[in-house]
Amino acid sequence: MSVEDLSGAAPARRTWSAEAALLLVSLFWLLSANSAFFREALAGRSPGEPSSWGFGLALALALLALNFLVLGLLCHGRLLKPVAALLILVAAGGSHFIGTFGVYLDPSMLRNALRTDPAEARELIGPALALRLGLQAALPIALLAWLPLRRRPLAKAALARTLWLLGALVLLVAAVMIEFRPLSSLMRNQRELRYLITPANVLWSTGSVVAADLKGAARPRQPIGLDAAPGPRMSARTRPMRVVLVVGETARAANWGLNGHARQTTPELAAVPGLINFPQTSSCGTNTEVSVPCMFAPVGRRDYDEDRIRGSESLLHVLARAGVDVLWRDNQSGCKGVCDGLPSQEMVQINPPGLCAEGRCLDEALLAGLDERLAGAQGSGVIVLHMLGNHGPSYFRRYPERFARFQPACQSDDLRQCDSTAIANAYDNALLYTDHVLATLIARLQAQAQAQSSQVDTAMIYLSDHGESLGESNLFLHGLPWAIAPEVQKRVPMVMWFSDGLARQERLDLDCLRRRAAQPAAHDHLFHTMLGLLDVRTALHEPALDLLAGCRRPAP
Ligand SMILES: [Zn+2]
Repeated sequence: MSVEDLSGAAPARRTWSAEAALLLVSLFWLLSANSAFFREALAGRSPGEPSSWGFGLALALALLALNFLVLGLLCHGRLLKPVAALLILVAAGGSHFIGTFGVYLDPSMLRNALRTDPAEARELIGPALALRLGLQAALPIALLAWLPLRRRPLAKAALARTLWLLGALVLLVAAVMIEFRPLSSLMRNQRELRYLITPANVLWSTGSVVAADLKGAARPRQPIGLDAAPGPRMSARTRPMRVVLVVGETARAANWGLNGHARQTTPELAAVPGLINFPQTSSCGTNTEVSVPCMFAPVGRRDYDEDRIRGSESLLHVLARAGVDVLWRDNQSGCKGVCDGLPSQEMVQINPPGLCAEGRCLDEALLAGLDERLAGAQGSGVIVLHMLGNHGPSYFRRYPERFARFQPACQSDDLRQCDSTAIANAYDNALLYTDHVLATLIARLQAQAQAQSSQVDTAMIYLSDHGESLGESNLFLHGLPWAIAPEVQKRVPMVMWFSDGLARQERLDLDCLRRRAAQPAAHDHLFHTMLGLLDVRTALHEPALDLLAGCRRPAP
């Protein structure tokens, strides 16, 4: 005899068991949230082949079972409906971003998403997402809320749930075993596919980010370069030296005018005498959360180890240890731990007149107060400028009106409202503005280097954190797992400029460096090049990865 029989209520409506309701949700996710997974998993298979159908059916059953396991483990008792509703929202949101931008919801993408600030979030949340959530979340949630669930004694409910979960597990294992060979080869060759399985991808990735952060919070950042000390050139410097390192955002090499892009997106930099362009530079990652910590780490992409990089100090700590004055100026979502404990400024807080609105600043804000800082410089120092650059999808918000040169430019936060030409136009306009900010910066550095009063030796290094997809192969934005990311997300612009005084003082052979620049370079070079440029000596410095090491004249 069950509980409702005792309640005395009229048995008018048919009641559902909790598990039947969860199975319904599982089926709904299978059909509504996983089209990208099936498209990729079945790519290259012919619909005429019976084996394709067998494989597709096995995948569908495995996914159904997986969905049920997720729901069955998380949704219980009175919290069943609220928790299931939340998961339905998550699944709808996840499948929206996968479907719209072609992203994979792996841990690094989730880390990026969880670090999104309100201004970024506003640009990602538009009518398209609202519509998607309305259809794919609000409707099923309303249906679920309406569904009358049968109430059972606790022991009986627990037994039923256990049996259902076991059943789902058996179904999952059976589906995998039946198609084991094609499935194992698929997962070996395209491991990233699992990050399309929605909403398990969001839950798994969020869990692993939280676990990694808890682990990281439990132990202090590992010091590196404890032996860092000024080298002979640094010790012999009689004039102050300032290296401005500009960390770009989402600028891709393919659209960089200096690299020979079909249209000139870098007219001002092209007119800077002595500028050195590195056209073949590859990034460490395909998103900010991977690339920024990685480019400031000694190991880089060649020996990538996320835990080790996140758990260790950065280049800036090593430089500071040797007495280099370090400052991080941020016009984005923070320094990702790279500047922990070191002096830093946020442009939104400084709020230079006419450049900031709605929690965002144009990148010229990064130049505010720089002249005074350079004029008063002493000793050796590094100023990092972290740009907002070409941060998408709202490229049109990244530049002032006078840089809207390529038209028509997409004026929507939702890229699907624009054709590919308008998207590329807005993207290239944002590059024009980056070009202007960098050229203005160099002009200021040049002026300070020549000013009688300051006599500071100056240099600028610019490199972007990762590239961007602008609709090629239906991909947008960035953040695809490294193994499958297209080149446009992995190739970035890099340029260097040195004042005459600095090149002389540091004995740099710029013609030699210009020849070196024609060869491939990478984020991996930054750590070692900066140590060499500032002449901070430490066992961490690998001369083979120092772009300047082979282009320094011997001491007289
Ligand atoms: Zn980025």
